[in-house]
Parts: sequence; C-alpha cells; structure tokens
Amino acid sequence: MVYLDNAATTPVNPAALRAAWPWLTEEFGNPSSTHELGQRASDALEDARARIAAWLNCRASEVVFTSGGTESDNLGISGLALANPRGRHIISAKTEHEAVLETLDYLARFHDFEVTWLPVDSLGVIIEADFVAALRDDTTLVSLMLANNEIGTVHPIARFAELAHQVGAAFHTDAVQAAGWLDTRISTLGVDSLALSGHKIGAPKGSGVAYLRGRLAVEPLLHGGGQENGRRSGTENVAWAVALATAIEALPNFAEEQSRVTKLRDDFVAEVLQSVPTATLSGHPKQRHPGIASFCFEGISGEAVLLELERRGVIVSSGSACAAGSNEPSHVLIACGFNAELAQTAVRFSFSHLTSAEELQQAAAALRESISAVSAI
Ligand code: PLP
Repeated sequence: MVYLDNAATTPVNPAALRAAWPWLTEEFGNPSSTHELGQRASDALEDARARIAAWLNCRASEVVFTSGGTESDNLGISGLALANPRGRHIISAKTEHEAVLETLDYLARFHDFEVTWLPVDSLGVIIEADFVAALRDDTTLVSLMLANNEIGTVHPIARFAELAHQVGAAFHTDAVQAAGWLDTRISTLGVDSLALSGHKIGAPKGSGVAYLRGRLAVEPLLHGGGQENGRRSGTENVAWAVALATAIEALPNFAEEQSRVTKLRDDFVAEVLQSVPTATLSGHPKQRHPGIASFCFEGISGEAVLLELERRGVIVSSGSACAAGSNEPSHVLIACGFNAELAQTAVRFSFSHLTSAEELQQAAAALRESISAVSAI
C-alpha cells in the first residue's frame, strides 16, 4: 500500500506509543492528585509541556493540552474573542478549515460578532491589500491558517500578524497542516494563538495543543476543575501528552525536510501534469506546503479516481477528510474560483516524512492507469 493521505491522518509513531504506555498502565495517577502516583503523572505532563514549548519556542505555561486541532481552533478563536472585548469585528478567510469557519459562524450567530471573510485569488492566496483594507479599529481578532489542508497554499502569517497587531487585534493561526513541514515557532510567527493536532504528526488521534500567549485573557470552553491554568478544565490525558511530545521530537528538521520533500513533490507534480493532459494543479505552485499536491482532472469524477487508485494500492483523498463522503464541492476550490463541476474532480496526494521517490513513481503510474480506466467508462 502507498499511503498518500497523510493530511487526513498519519500512522502513530511507535516510539510515541511506547512512551505513552506506562501512563496508560501502571502509572495511572491523576496529575491533580497530591500523592506520589499523582505527582509522577504531573511531572510527566509538565515534562511533555516543556518539550513542546521548546519546539514551539514559547513558555511552557503558554501550552495548553487539548483533544486536537478542532478544539485548539475553538479555544484560540472563541477564547480570545470572548475575553477581549476590544470590538466585535473578526477577520478570516473563505479557505479556512471547518473548525475555524464553524467557530466564527457560532460567534456571529450567538455573540454578535461581525466577520469579514477575505477572498483569495485563483491560487488560494490572500492579497495583502485586501487584508489591510479589512482591518478596523474594532477588529478584535484575525484568524488565518498557515498552510491550507486541501490545496497546500501557504500564507505569510508573520506579516499578517504584524499588520493585525498594528491595529491592536489578536492573531490566531491554524497550524495543523504546517506542523513539521514549515517553521511553526512562535518567535518566528509572532501569533497570539496557534492550533496544533497530534494525529497529523505521528501522535494518537485526540491529542493536540493550543499555544495561547501568556499575557492575553482567554475565556475557556470547558469549565470545571481549573486544570491547564484555568484555560481548559478536565483531567489531562497524560499518556497522549507524553506521546505528542515524543512524536514532535521525532519530526525531522523542517528546513532540511522542506528541501527534500519539495523536490519530490515538484517531480511528482511535473510527472502528473505531463502524463495526464486534463490535470491542473490547484493552489500556489511554489508558495505551498511541501507535502501536499492536489489536482483537478477535468471531466472526470474525483471520487471515481480515488476508487481506482485504491484498487491499485494507492490511498489518497478528494480533499478535506471532513468533506469526504459528502457530495458538496470543496469550499476551498469554490473560493479559488473553480466551478462546482471542476471542484468535484479534485484529488489530493499528501505525503509523510517517510514518503519516497519510488512510492511517488508508483502513485503516478497508478494515477495514469486510473484516469484511463475512469475515462473509458
Ligand atoms: N485544521 C486543519 C487545517 C485541518 O486539516 C484539520 C484536520 O484535518 C483540523 C483543523 C482539525 O484537526 P483535528 O482532526 O485534530 O480536530
């Protein structure tokens, strides 16, 4: 099997699972308990937090353990918007993940926020002038993702965060797909809040963190015992926190990995565009996630191509895992100006840190056969 759906989820790193095991078995203490069993769990939790903070280049107290990317997006966005009543205006973009779109929709419907949805160009790029024009005195929050999960387009988040701060707005970024591939250090990005999901980087599903800048007030989503500095109540999942820290430490150096995988991706894209005349690459050709290559195949059903690829042992998806299975065309491709018919032809190949040139050659060959098989129907 050639698994090229890593943007949906990655296999769990065995080292992460081994590190988690004791905290699921004999070391079962509650980290809030004062006895020794509990204190050992608390030490493990704080050790995991410190290791993740070192990787993010932030303070350990700014790392909040959550259940994944969706919760971290909800906490960053609602948490900052509700606790900082500077104004009721928020800026985001039409190509964000559902975890952001739906949270903002909730804030607009139930908390009287007004959201400006930035458009994107045909490559999924946000034009800086549009962003600057949208900023207002009452803009309280900006939420823009680092790398798009469907088309891979990368946004200049450090620049946008700087512009947002000039009007006093806080900045949240969804870095779920970017983690391990791009520079996600807080010191580089300058954001106030960042969402990270464990299962996209070799940790178990249901693990994740939110980075939340220490000096900012955050309204928690979960109320209760006041764990995580009062920012996320509920007994912490020590095992998954340890697994996440271990998976993060196993990630390759992003700068070296970028050049290795960008070359693989560019060769793969060139091969597909050359051998399949109906193929177009979606997203920006260069300013993109190293491990995401997504195409539209005019006149051919993307879902049918997926099935043919699967029969040939190549696992991919049509775009976001959340939208998979629904017949709705991708909101990201629609925002890029694709018509609904072309958007239904989308196929996304997403790589892991272990993806090899041989696997991509196999995938390209399987794709050629699959397109012929679907065209012949
Ligand atoms: N944000 C982006 C960009 C994603 O791709 C995903 C998952 O696909 C999420 C958020 C949600 O993360 P999780 O599955 O951990 O809730």
